[in-house]
Amino acid sequence: MGTVTELAAPGVRTLQPYQPGLPLEELARRYGVTDAVKLASNENPLGPSPRVAEAVREVLPELARYPDGGGFRLKGALSGRLDVSPEMLTLGNGSNDVLELAARAFVTAEDEVVYSQHAFAVYPLVTRAIGASGVEVPARDWGHDLAAMREAVTDRTRMVFVANPNNPTGTWSEAADLKAFVAAMPEHVIVVVDEAYSEYAGHPEHGVAGYPDAAQWLAEYPNLVVTRTFSKAYGLAGLRVGYAISSPEVADLMNRVRQPFNVNSAALAAAEAALADTDHLEKGIAVNAEGMAALTAGFERLGLSYIPSAGNFVSVDVGRPADAVYERLLHHGVIVRPVGGAGMPNHLRISVGLAAENERCITALERVLAAA
Ligand SMILES: *Cc1c(COP(=O)(O)O)cnc(C)c1O
Repeated sequence: MGTVTELAAPGVRTLQPYQPGLPLEELARRYGVTDAVKLASNENPLGPSPRVAEAVREVLPELARYPDGGGFRLKGALSGRLDVSPEMLTLGNGSNDVLELAARAFVTAEDEVVYSQHAFAVYPLVTRAIGASGVEVPARDWGHDLAAMREAVTDRTRMVFVANPNNPTGTWSEAADLKAFVAAMPEHVIVVVDEAYSEYAGHPEHGVAGYPDAAQWLAEYPNLVVTRTFSKAYGLAGLRVGYAISSPEVADLMNRVRQPFNVNSAALAAAEAALADTDHLEKGIAVNAEGMAALTAGFERLGLSYIPSAGNFVSVDVGRPADAVYERLLHHGVIVRPVGGAGMPNHLRISVGLAAENERCITALERVLAAA
């Protein structure tokens, strides 16, 4: 009899756990830094709409009750906003939950799942947890090489993940390219387009040109799943709410593997309130655009190259192993994200913060790089 580790499912045995950004409290415990800024998890620096606190307070007297497992009200609100029927929506405990539901509904240990190099860490995680084979396709200019990903699809491929824009690179695919990619997928492949940052990337003024809303293609492609989240532009990362838009058939299948009460009552109420406050959403997107401009101007001043990003974060090449720079930044009270695990050992991913936070980050980066 060996160790209990040997009893683990083969895919799980070799799995590296997801590395979250360092919490502020942990930095205080480690180094006694109490006025730190956290630009490590692509969180919204404005926080959620003030209407959220009110909505959550109203839920408090009902906490003994199970949440509405069908998410009727939130689905109704989303349905109106997105102009899709509620049967096309699947709610999740964050969109990570929805990504996993999609994989569990469709992928078995015999199947292959295709995703890009430097792509979001959750794709290999959910793939390998099922025991399926992940096929990582080399990136092109840091972004998804859609032509190469198409070539990587075989008879065994059951799912393809496309992050648009991608995290941690911030790269995006344009409408014509992505639509051609979806159209070229064989019928036995489910295409998941992860649009966690679509509110930023698709914004008419502050977004990037040619950014598609893949949900528009659902009527044409029944094998398409589009995922979104309330964690980023809506500032609700702590409450965990995301959703998928798909054909009703796909939603029905994902619903079969869903935990009955996967989204809690506070999260349901908060998401509904956040969705209604479009002014707050707009404000956050404008703050992000200003902050992105300030950060990238700072990188240019320091002579650092960065990957242009359509999200609320940007990956900068610090020209040396970034783990050591990350550690030194912690001593200056600035938490960013090393992305060596994504195959980018010289990059740091920096989330866009408020003006003072961005400035503090650039100043600390300048000092750390000068001292090295
Ligand atoms: C942040 C992020 C998500 C969403 O995570 P949640 O589980 O909704 O908090 C999904 N995809 C990508 C690419 C992300 O960066």
